[in-house]
Amino acid sequence: MATSTLGQPTVAPQISTKYPILILGGGTAGITVAARLRNAGQTGIAIIEPSETHYYQPLWTLVGGGVVPASITARPEKDYIPRGVSWIKGLATAIEPRENAIVLADGRRIGYDYLIVACGLQLDWDKIEGLPQTLGENGVSSNYAYDLAPKTWEYIRSFKGGRAIFTYPLGPIKCAGAPQKIMYLAADYFRRHNIKAEVIYATATPAIFSVKHYQEPLMKVVRRYGITTLFQHNLVAVDGPNKQATFEVLNDPEKKRVTLSFDFLHVTPPQSAPNFIKNNPLLAETEGTTKGYLRVNKHTLQSPDFPNIFAIGDASSTPNSKTGAAIRKQAPVLVENLLAQMSGKPLTAQYNGYASCPLVTGYGKLILAEFDYDGNPTPSIPFIDTSRERWSMYMLKRWGLPWMYWNLMLRGKA
Ligand SMILES: Cc1cc2nc3c(=O)[nH]c(=O)nc-3n(C[C@H](O)[C@H](O)[C@H](O)COP(=O)(O)OP(=O)(O)OC[C@H]3O[C@@H](n4cnc5c(N)ncnc54)[C@H](O)[C@@H]3O)c2cc1C
Repeated sequence: MATSTLGQPTVAPQISTKYPILILGGGTAGITVAARLRNAGQTGIAIIEPSETHYYQPLWTLVGGGVVPASITARPEKDYIPRGVSWIKGLATAIEPRENAIVLADGRRIGYDYLIVACGLQLDWDKIEGLPQTLGENGVSSNYAYDLAPKTWEYIRSFKGGRAIFTYPLGPIKCAGAPQKIMYLAADYFRRHNIKAEVIYATATPAIFSVKHYQEPLMKVVRRYGITTLFQHNLVAVDGPNKQATFEVLNDPEKKRVTLSFDFLHVTPPQSAPNFIKNNPLLAETEGTTKGYLRVNKHTLQSPDFPNIFAIGDASSTPNSKTGAAIRKQAPVLVENLLAQMSGKPLTAQYNGYASCPLVTGYGKLILAEFDYDGNPTPSIPFIDTSRERWSMYMLKRWGLPWMYWNLMLRGKA
């Protein structure tokens, strides 16, 4: 029995409604899976999602680069909840895997037979001292939020010269390429407008990109723009009014700190599993780089402890690069395995860790990185070397992928 703050015993509310299939989160992964389940003829599905708006986050890079307005990345959530699926507007605050129930912030308890966790990750802005107070002011911005991406463009376009720093935090993040994509757009813009800029990439990672195959092509881009790289530099504090950024040097035995002044600072915040997952010892991964995320088998996407729970997308412990592209490959695997589980058959579908990252390297230029769990390149476009910068791949990002997202992926058709 739970206890109230006054120490009185409280009785957990009864489960108000129970669904055969409950999906937690109606973002990229939740909607894609719901649509695929409906296409497969499943009924009795509900999605828990608090937001009235669905965002296509990959375009926030081009919002920050001034190519598209933020408004085209946002559409009403209701238009993408598949027909026949119930929408429970609410914020989950706990998963009770032994009771097969989800607790919502308003006190409701929703039951399920099968649960799909698809609630994404959380942005930990407050883990960087001084950052929340100065975001969107004093030349500090981030493409990781819908409201801030337009601010990035405002700062780039009004930059009069000086030092521009782009950061990358410690630990897994969504779209590991995004922190450098906006840097290349900014560097390209400064060049085209003859603005004297010292561009610095200060990253907690030991290399420009985790997949070896794409490192040299990207370092070529870095050299072309004359960018200074500071590897193993983790942003720990920002002093907005005085325009100072402090980094911990991770490979220094004493973890010394260095402070750099800036005229423009683009921050990629530290990211982690939503608190209600990471604080749940029954469900959270306990070790490794994916600690705190919802623990699932990285090939079948099923929880090893609760066979009626699956997870997909940024919220899951699968050690792939956290991208919408990965979700596109995970969704059919999850649906096939869930249906197998429901009919008592063995789970045979396997996800191989595929992810892709369209690395914008300037206006009209893009390197398309595609790889699996082992870092092997897994190109899906035959006859083209996409590790070279290409205009056609940039067009794919600007036009092709958004169209595919809204019209095919979220409809369960791609
Ligand atoms: C700047 C940027 C650039 C990117 N570029 C690319 C790219 O080029 N290519 C690519 O493939 N990917 C890219 N991504 C990553 C991609 O957008 C994400 O990996 C993807 O959206 C993750 O999908 P998801 O469903 O796991 O999470 P989300 O799409 O974030 O959805 C999570 C949903 O869960 C809901 N939710 C959260 N908490 C709760 C709760 N407690 N209760 C109920 N609902 C909850 C949220 O409201 C949200 O709707 C980029 C991301 C960013 C920020």
